[in-house]
Amino acid sequence: MTHKVSSYIAGAWITPEDEGAPIFDASNGEVVATASSTGVDFEAMIAHARTVGGPALRAMTFTQRGLALKNLAKYLKGRVDEVYADYGVSGATLADARVDVEGGIGVLFVYASKALKELPNDTIIVEGNPENIVDKHQGQTIYTTPDGVAVFINAFNFPVWGMLEKLATAFIAGIPVIVKPATPTAQIAELSFRHIIESGILPEGSVQFVGGSIVGALDHLGGQDAILFTGSAATAARLRTAACVVERGTKFTAEADSVNATILGPDAGVDTEEFSAFVKGIFRELSSKTGQKCTCIRRIFVPPALVEPTVNALLARLGKIVVGDPRVEGTTMGPLVNASQRDDVASSVRALMKGAELRCGGPDIVPTIASGDAERGGFFPPTVLVANDSRAPQIHEVEAFGPVATVIPYTSTDDLVDLVSRGEGSLVASVASHDPAWIRDLMIRIAPYHGRLLILDRENAATAPPHGAALPQLIHGGPGRAGGGAELGGLRSVKHMMQATSISAGPEMMVGLTQVWNPAAEAKPLEVHPFRIYLDDLKLGDTLFTGSRTITLEDIEHFAHFTGDTFYAHMDEEAAAASPIFKGRVAHGYFLLAAAAGLFVDPDPGPVLANFGLENLRFTQPVYPGESIRVRLTCKSKLVRPGTGWGEVTWDVALTNEKDEVVATYQLLTINACRPTE
Ligand code: NAP
Repeated sequence: MTHKVSSYIAGAWITPEDEGAPIFDASNGEVVATASSTGVDFEAMIAHARTVGGPALRAMTFTQRGLALKNLAKYLKGRVDEVYADYGVSGATLADARVDVEGGIGVLFVYASKALKELPNDTIIVEGNPENIVDKHQGQTIYTTPDGVAVFINAFNFPVWGMLEKLATAFIAGIPVIVKPATPTAQIAELSFRHIIESGILPEGSVQFVGGSIVGALDHLGGQDAILFTGSAATAARLRTAACVVERGTKFTAEADSVNATILGPDAGVDTEEFSAFVKGIFRELSSKTGQKCTCIRRIFVPPALVEPTVNALLARLGKIVVGDPRVEGTTMGPLVNASQRDDVASSVRALMKGAELRCGGPDIVPTIASGDAERGGFFPPTVLVANDSRAPQIHEVEAFGPVATVIPYTSTDDLVDLVSRGEGSLVASVASHDPAWIRDLMIRIAPYHGRLLILDRENAATAPPHGAALPQLIHGGPGRAGGGAELGGLRSVKHMMQATSISAGPEMMVGLTQVWNPAAEAKPLEVHPFRIYLDDLKLGDTLFTGSRTITLEDIEHFAHFTGDTFYAHMDEEAAAASPIFKGRVAHGYFLLAAAAGLFVDPDPGPVLANFGLENLRFTQPVYPGESIRVRLTCKSKLVRPGTGWGEVTWDVALTNEKDEVVATYQLLTINACRPTE
């Protein structure tokens, strides 16, 4: 019996009763599954996310969410072979499948690590330091988790990665999700989603799944909800005008198609490493996933003299591709996802041919295939065109979502910038050149049209990730036609999913609200030394005020000769006095830090286990021989590392002189033990 893609709603799998839309074997056109959402109660599904999943997630701190995501990534990694077993049905080779499956799991690992290392063990993110607006009144931006649900509408080409990349950011942000995969590969997304449920790691209601159409769900979305769309610009345009978006303010972000560029710099002749990297990059993009990548190169910009060498180098490489059923050994490129996609690509190439000449492949030849069914499968040959007219609109507007790219000559940097910008906004462009001055000028002018720029030259050619690789640490998204969203980009994409709110309040209240002490709030003197207090018992604002130490000329001399730092400002009275900054010899800043530690440190073993750094160090005033310093050391914030018995303390430190003027400020970072359990 043909597999029916099921939906997962409120903790139960529901198999549709009707047949639904067919899902084809990409190599032979046989129906392998169907998908339908008939019978899915979208209202109940969204209510379940809001009332069960949302509260469960919001009760978890970023640290707990990070740990859960890490465990999920490990669990899924252990089951990749099950996903690969049937993946070839979609036309993907094993290498293609790995990009999708292990690439997606990699995103989970990266976001888990970011949450554990860079976010507090809390449920809100506090941005930067508060602004002092007027006396006793501050302003501060915080990020909180919306009360709604995030609906993922995904594209067919990355059924696993597309789901996991969005899940990573939404889960860390604390938002329950509903995943709607694209129908042509919904059965692959379903299998991977089943693994997520089977892991039992994510709280109930935090993830649900719809096989088939999701159109009816949008009627139930409101202002706390979000739609995260990946797919074609045409579908994005339709969804952007959905009533929930236009009338009720549902957040809508789109990652749409784009006509990405790769550029060969004027310095990169055929014998350069840059030229080789350039050709290799194009070949990789066209053959990987049969060119079905949103980031794939569609436009190849080269100086006029390099059009033919580029085409020839590409044809030589593309000629070695073995097209066929990816499940048959020896195949290096599979078919497109189905015959309908093949027909779409064929009609897009016909549109491109209005402004460009075909140099290989194209819609009118029967591709040579080593295996599979040329008629019923989605086979399409690697296709290269050369523009007849660099400004023909089709070559800048049409995305043929397959192994298709057009070579376009440019005559000058101004010409190149004008041509690249005709893509109206792309996910990525790559530039092969070894001339930083030329690239910098180009970068400043084309960056506004891109989410990411990859620069390739002899330095990084061997190690740089491919043009099309969307990396979790870097922005994945793009302006204009590319949709204006950013699915990835480190913690910036987590914040993108949360609500930014400015809080204004008095300093003491601000400390209570944000759980971060700031110098406008009260520094509370302690009766015991803070280094004798366990992490659990230390309170924000707990402060040590030290005694003073007079800085002498002997100290400065000693420090200079001991360390070798004999900079004139410390050693030469006349030269120091002649500088516009100093009135004479001054103490070394590093000596002041060391002297400060000598004032505040409590030497005996105790709860403070180690010092692991300083942040935001500023020397704000010189200290002259004969002046004295004292230190204020205040507990600014705490981060408990669950399960370790220790955590981190950030101390706000201010050094002052005898006139109470601040001479240095910084944050000291220590590792502190929790109170031992009985
Ligand atoms: P698509 O046809 O636009 O479909 C994308 C998703 O939208 C599918 O899940 C589809 O569901 C759903 N959908 C279609 N009409 C809808 C409607 N009226 N209401 C709600 N949902 C609707 O795109 P695709 O063919 O799957 O993917 C290929 C395109 O995606 C390419 O253009 C590619 O460049 C782009 N893409 C972009 C990125 C990126 O990150 N920028 C990543 C991958 C792909 P059904 O399948 O059930 O119709």
